[in-house]
Amino acid sequence: MIDGTGRNIDYIRISITDRCNLRCVYCMPETGVQMTSHKEILTFDEIIRLCGIFASLGIKKIKLTGGEPLCRIGVDDLVRDLKAVQGVEQVTLTTNAVELDEHLLPLYEAGLDAINISIDTADPALYKRLTRRDKFDEVMANIKMAAEFGKIPLKINCVPMTAEQKLYDVAEFARNYNIHVRFIEMMPIGFGKEFSFISRDAIIELLEERFGPLTAADVSLGNGPAEYYSIPGFKGKIGFISAVSHKFCQTCNRVRMTAEGYLKTCLQYDSGVNLKACLRAGGTDAELKELIANAINEKPLSHHFGDEGDGDSETKIMSQIGG
Ligand code: SAM
Ligand code: SF4
Repeated sequence: MIDGTGRNIDYIRISITDRCNLRCVYCMPETGVQMTSHKEILTFDEIIRLCGIFASLGIKKIKLTGGEPLCRIGVDDLVRDLKAVQGVEQVTLTTNAVELDEHLLPLYEAGLDAINISIDTADPALYKRLTRRDKFDEVMANIKMAAEFGKIPLKINCVPMTAEQKLYDVAEFARNYNIHVRFIEMMPIGFGKEFSFISRDAIIELLEERFGPLTAADVSLGNGPAEYYSIPGFKGKIGFISAVSHKFCQTCNRVRMTAEGYLKTCLQYDSGVNLKACLRAGGTDAELKELIANAINEKPLSHHFGDEGDGDSETKIMSQIGG
């Protein structure tokens, strides 16, 4: 649907759990995570019903996220059921790949359209420090398995924050496989506020030192605002998603829904609507549709990350929002 400022909103990121098997330093605290109780999380039936209403409003593309979406039991069935919802054209998922081996085939059979895998470094010791878990070998093996399986398109997402990450080693995934590697700027949300980001220019310089010149590629791959570059000899492309330094709010096509059923219309702000309250109070499809349409109509014009003193009103951490 078209929002109040003329943007076409056709994509939703749905968090299906706030639980995770990693504890990435910029996303979750090391201990003392407040988990939402199971009864407060939307059931699959509730998610499927809402997706039918989203689709009737023109939201045709769904990304499942979390927390770690593969931690939620039955996620493969959810994908299959969402693919069957009238008007839903694409269902994708973002994962840390820790448990991808168990899900790859079922997800493929369920009709999943693409997977984004998050990995911030190809260095095992640093991976352990950044994720506070010892899962590097499993994750690398699972990425290789998914790449060799080859039947579900893959992308790698990496959030640069320190030179120690050896970003050129992460870029190697795009040399060896037909996988696009995207560098995503750290956003000042939750624990992300405690980290700085490495600029796109600095990353390009670093990659050029190692691989030679990067050439801007005039392509749009997937749902997002990534800008892509080619490197000679690489099978995949290198992308940059720079929400803070190269704001793309004017072309934003997305909304988000938390695992608790709160429809969030902008990453930075708490603006949106509590759909669970309406669902569980016996709301009709027409009532839900009106709530959703009104919220999208009022989607904020842009975020104001980095503007001194401007309302950073979102108090949730990223594992609750879904990235
Ligand atoms: N656990 C899954 C994963 O890691 O892909 C899905 C949820 S995670 C919140 C989704 C994405 O958000 C990951 O790629 C993660 O790196 C990214 N992310 C988390 N906090 C962020 C921040 N402050 N700035 C930018 N990206 C962030
Ligand atoms: Fe978990 Fe993803 Fe957050 Fe890392 S970024 S702690 S994998 S939800």
